[in-house]
Amino acid sequence: MRHLPFPLVCTVLAVSILSSGCLEKPPVFQSEVDQPEQPAFPQLETLPVPPEEEDFYLFSQRLVDLEVPTSIAERLTHGSLNANMRKFPYPYRGMLAFASDIDDTTPEEFAEYHRFLNTKEETPNGTGVGLDIGDSLWMYMCNDRPNITDRSGKGLEGVMTYFDGADPTKKRYANEIKHYFQKGWIDSMHTFGDFSRKNVKDVCFKRQLAVKAWEEMIQEGITPSLWINHGNEANVDSFGAYDPNRFSRYQAGDDPTSPAYHTDLSLKNGVHFVWNSVGESRYGQDSPLFPIRLRDGQKIWGVHRYTHEVVNGKNDWTWVPREVHRQLTAERLDRLAEQGQYAILGQHFGGYNIGFPFDEKGVAALRLLERYQDQGTILVARTSRLLQYAVAYQHVKSAVVEHIGETWINITAIDDPLFGPQPLTLDAVRGLTFYVEKPERTHLLVDGKPLPPELYQVNQADQSGRSSIGIRWFPRDVHDYSYQNQDENAQ
Ligand SMILES: [Zn+2]
Repeated sequence: MRHLPFPLVCTVLAVSILSSGCLEKPPVFQSEVDQPEQPAFPQLETLPVPPEEEDFYLFSQRLVDLEVPTSIAERLTHGSLNANMRKFPYPYRGMLAFASDIDDTTPEEFAEYHRFLNTKEETPNGTGVGLDIGDSLWMYMCNDRPNITDRSGKGLEGVMTYFDGADPTKKRYANEIKHYFQKGWIDSMHTFGDFSRKNVKDVCFKRQLAVKAWEEMIQEGITPSLWINHGNEANVDSFGAYDPNRFSRYQAGDDPTSPAYHTDLSLKNGVHFVWNSVGESRYGQDSPLFPIRLRDGQKIWGVHRYTHEVVNGKNDWTWVPREVHRQLTAERLDRLAEQGQYAILGQHFGGYNIGFPFDEKGVAALRLLERYQDQGTILVARTSRLLQYAVAYQHVKSAVVEHIGETWINITAIDDPLFGPQPLTLDAVRGLTFYVEKPERTHLLVDGKPLPPELYQVNQADQSGRSSIGIRWFPRDVHDYSYQNQDENAQ
């Protein structure tokens, strides 16, 4: 390491946040060695830092100040709800996700439309829009209907399911599904599979299929946090809206007395969110979450999902790809930003046998959405990230201590009222943003540990006139993860 040029040594150390040893040239660091009692940033205002180096200076200051002053360390452990949170990561004013059901999607269709949605590649349908859009998975296929699922005429055997049919000893598209889950193009489960039947009394699903599915998923690291109900009354593994007097009376996944019971396993294995089959015509929501008490006594977050309009008293479903231009209008996106709301849009991107699912109007609408994100108005996130963020935003506890002209903020907990304190991983706190008077003099800690400087996001005043500091959102990832490119992905 001695032979490395100075800047490279610095970069290595800065990235690993191990030491401030490389930053020995500016005098402030030397003086700190000599005077360990000095408070943090003691000479900030008098140090001659050229404006063009200010960013680096602040960066290095944060790097060097890994030690929390002992005089405030204790106070920083007492977190509470913080009234000065910004609702969305700066500069965004609203957040939007697509929640797409995997119904009748072949692997070829999946790769084709996600390449357009998630990458900036040149595709036969134009440059991709490069948005963070996830999808759902199926482990099994037990549908006995004669569906034609793609343009080449494939039946249900062509659909991307993990296992072959309903046989957990035979794999079908396991590699594809595992790959897409790891890369983020899949982040939810559309129940365990397609159990729709011609005769809804001829039920195929049973608990043993759930046991086998979870065994495999846990072993392969496929752990979706969102469950989306599917299909007709034969899909008895559905849950979350059971009502003996309504259509949803078939839902039995949370009934401990039913042979279809599985929510003991599913919640334990990480499912924290459910779309309970109740479609909604309301687009924006102040919160995407509402608590549901299941029949086995457990609680889970229900998810608001926009699915349809109501026209002359009838449901006009817009959760199909040829209607995406009605889901994404400038008027709707403007209103979402004005109201400061979340929207989760139901879709069935691959549900038809029409080839590339978006027509000209749909492509234009998706480009419009990309512009709203590029302009800093609407943040598009895969559904699991949006939901995890909403839990964190609503239930984060932090301690804020002012100390010698600086602000110290320690995130002490994400106190999920249904699932208890959540692990304080980086992903769990990404995007959290605090209004502060002097973001350039604010330290962020997570569970008492200083946040690495490259994760700081210092924000100027927004529409409210207040400046803020936040933890950087996930970096934009427009890599082409199409399964046929997996060799390239591995490099
Ligand atoms: Zn479905």
